[in-house]
Amino acid sequence: MMQEIQFVRAQTLKAKPQDESKLGFGRIFTDHMFTMRYDRENGWHDAKVEPYRALSLEPSCMVLHYGQAIFEGLKCYRREDGGLQLFRPRDNFERMNTSAERLSIPTFDVEDAMAGLLKLLEIEKDWAPSQRDTSLYIRPFIIATDPFVGVRASNTYLFCIILSPVGAYYANGLAPVGIYVEDQYVRAVRGGLGFAKTAANYAASLKAGEIAHQNGYAQVLWLDGVELKYVEEVGSMNIMFVLDGKIVTPALNGSILSGITRKSILQLAADDGFEVEERRIAIEEVVRAAEEGRLQEAFGTGTAAVVSPVGELCWNGKKIILSGGKIGPVTQRLYDELTGIQWGREEDRFGWVLKL
Ligand SMILES: *Cc1c(COP(=O)(O)O)cnc(C)c1O
Repeated sequence: MMQEIQFVRAQTLKAKPQDESKLGFGRIFTDHMFTMRYDRENGWHDAKVEPYRALSLEPSCMVLHYGQAIFEGLKCYRREDGGLQLFRPRDNFERMNTSAERLSIPTFDVEDAMAGLLKLLEIEKDWAPSQRDTSLYIRPFIIATDPFVGVRASNTYLFCIILSPVGAYYANGLAPVGIYVEDQYVRAVRGGLGFAKTAANYAASLKAGEIAHQNGYAQVLWLDGVELKYVEEVGSMNIMFVLDGKIVTPALNGSILSGITRKSILQLAADDGFEVEERRIAIEEVVRAAEEGRLQEAFGTGTAAVVSPVGELCWNGKKIILSGGKIGPVTQRLYDELTGIQWGREEDRFGWVLKL
């Protein structure tokens, strides 16, 4: 551990949400946050749990101009016995270092970040809601902070973790969503930032998202950035198909985010006896399989929504209804198994859970 983590207590504490059925997602923030700073002389240092408050940045702050910003998303779950637990948290910080590396941001010691997170959670534990499907969402991020206009990597950075009590990501819970297959805009290309969890990928995605919304679709399914031919991923989720009874998902190719939910679902499915394939999947193959009745289900995977059934795909004006627009049995089963482990209702047979 680099040093002690200082604690500066908030002068006044906020009222916690009364009605846990109305938390929504990402709108309420707790009393404290974890921060540490980077400069060339000291490396990562000045670790603190301090009051959640507005950051003070100069208008010349580099992140505002050149976009060196990375983030993570994970959850703290309350078990039925009242205790709290995390799901594969070190994997998030390791992935954050992968993102950091790509954006020329200095990497950090995963154990320093873990120590900061655990201390923050210890202080904020009463903010973790207990109603079914709720959790305390954890958002670590790093931004470039040099006051400088000119293109280069920043020499100083802020690492921050904030917390938000959340309900289910989609207001109506585990309900099938309609997905618009984007055939004009692209999210990422090989050699670009696709595998990094960075603000820029989301900036690139907003326009297509708006068009999908206008057409009544909840999310965009991205195709590859070169030929617009192969399936990549959905907004903030990886995508999986139940095709000829197998679980098939795009292989990690450099332009897809390596989801922790994705790899957990693949492992669960294989353990359940499903055949699992990670490979290139052409959108034409998906459409043909659907027309021939060989595509049973599709679902997205990601921390926020966990497992999200796809009820409809729209590509090139063609509308494909999946599993009768309902939640398919494989999707439901994998959702139940994963959420069972995450909320501690089922045995943690893979050693994924960290009890606090
Ligand atoms: C975060 C994210 C995912 C899901 O990753 P998880 O680790 O499962 O939460 C998928 N795609 C993109 C683009 C993401 O940013």
